[in-house]
Amino acid sequence: MPRPSPTSKNKMITTTKINKVFSLLELSHQPTMLEQLQGHTPFQLLVATLLSSRTKDTTTIPLVKKLFQQYKTPEYFSRATIKDLEKALYGIGFYRVKARQVRKLAGIILKEYGGNVPTTFEQLTFLPGVGRKTANCILNYAFQQPAIAVDVHVHRISNRLGWVKTTTPEETEEELKKIVPKQLWSKVNMLLVDHGQRICLPRKPRCGVCPVRKECEFGREVLN
Ligand code: SF4
Repeated sequence: MPRPSPTSKNKMITTTKINKVFSLLELSHQPTMLEQLQGHTPFQLLVATLLSSRTKDTTTIPLVKKLFQQYKTPEYFSRATIKDLEKALYGIGFYRVKARQVRKLAGIILKEYGGNVPTTFEQLTFLPGVGRKTANCILNYAFQQPAIAVDVHVHRISNRLGWVKTTTPEETEEELKKIVPKQLWSKVNMLLVDHGQRICLPRKPRCGVCPVRKECEFGREVLN
């Protein structure tokens, strides 16, 4: 029997339903930024995640690949001058602020953790500039730990699908943890971020070409 899971409105979202949506999305999945950067170190994935905020992946990915050829470890970042880092990050949103942020982060990781990115949610969120979403991304993509990283795409699509009825990403994370089986947590960010970037767009979702429209509360309403 599929495991029924209550949402905040007492609607039953089953594991079977969630699996079906994930299977359909997997058929046309294109790798997210962090999937494209697999093979990089946890520190590099952490820096890339911080740099990617308010910046398009198509800008972030080539820039960080080039950046990590020159700045490979926390030592390189902490030894760099702010001016050099600003130059290397030029093109990224808020590059000046982020140059200072990543240098500070590198210094703390060196001093407090011997150069290794910490592996717990509590330690990660204690680092400057690292919130719930970034910490969960690192647990998920860098350390292969079960975590649900909720960004704007995951929050929006979970609500449109009718899986949750929430107003903040934090609430969405809590609700998704109740209904998504733990072994599927790592798929949530990977599949919904890609879907949100290409199909389930913020303002004009492309429901007519969406592979999960039959499983989606919002899609069923607009297409009926
Ligand atoms: S049917 Fe529309 S709203 Fe639902 S997931 Fe697809 S694109 Fe998004």
